[in-house]
Amino acid sequence: MKIILNNNSLFKSLRPFSDIGLVPTMGSIHRGHLSLINRSNRTCKKTIVSIFINPKQFNNRKDFKNYPKNINNDIKILKKTKKVDFLYIPKFKDVYNNNKKSNIKIIKKDKVLCAKYRGGHFEGVLDVMERLTNLVNPKKIFMGKKDYQQYFLIKNYLKNKYKTSIIPCKTIRDKSKIAFSSRNNHLDLNGIKKASFLSKSLIKLKRNLVNSKKIKQNLKIQIKYFEKLLKIKIEYLELRSIKNLKISNNVKGSRLFVAYYIDNVRLIDNF
Ligand code: AMP
Repeated sequence: MKIILNNNSLFKSLRPFSDIGLVPTMGSIHRGHLSLINRSNRTCKKTIVSIFINPKQFNNRKDFKNYPKNINNDIKILKKTKKVDFLYIPKFKDVYNNNKKSNIKIIKKDKVLCAKYRGGHFEGVLDVMERLTNLVNPKKIFMGKKDYQQYFLIKNYLKNKYKTSIIPCKTIRDKSKIAFSSRNNHLDLNGIKKASFLSKSLIKLKRNLVNSKKIKQNLKIQIKYFEKLLKIKIEYLELRSIKNLKISNNVKGSRLFVAYYIDNVRLIDNF
């Protein structure tokens, strides 16, 4: 695994290759990331993982400052997989050096779920993904369905502009049904228990929604129930179509999207 710390080295290292799979991450590598790496390794000749905590996608400075960082451990884990050919750890100036200001705007119909609650977040995500795509020129980019809206917006944004395909990969969960996430590092044992209870409950709830006639009202009641029981804040709990992310009244072809806070840690998932 070659560690690449600047763009000169990036261009030199990638020049001989065309079948490149990119796994973009913000580090604190966990089993979710590793599953994307496995998929890339199986599909592409070369796999490059990027670790870059993109300041422009944080709508809250404190959240950016507190985002878990574990670079030495990440390097160890990634090396051990023997499935990563290149690890790209750019500096801010490597990603944003051309200084071209981005004019990306999320259109009104897409301002739902996290786009509604985290102003500027996806503008920052699309900007950095376009920059990484230009820098790496990957054949495929592997993204987790855990961040389904992110996958959805990136796919739609890049698909007409680049030849790169965006490959959605399934959400990896631990035994207690919590989706692996770097932000789980901020939870204490009690927080983990709450996240596990909520994940298991939402898996069941989705099954029960098949027979529900008033899904929207039902979900409103569920929000209150979980908030009271677990002493957590639920930002949204909505059933939406995976095709266009519009509110759905039919479980088929839809996912149950949730964002919630446990002890000020914001987590998202979908079922
Ligand atoms: P992050 O480092 O949180 O920005 O995530 C980097 C990539 O890993 C994104 O495409 C995420 O959707 C994906 N990812 C994060 N957690 C999981 C998980 N539990 N299962 C599958 N993919 C994940």
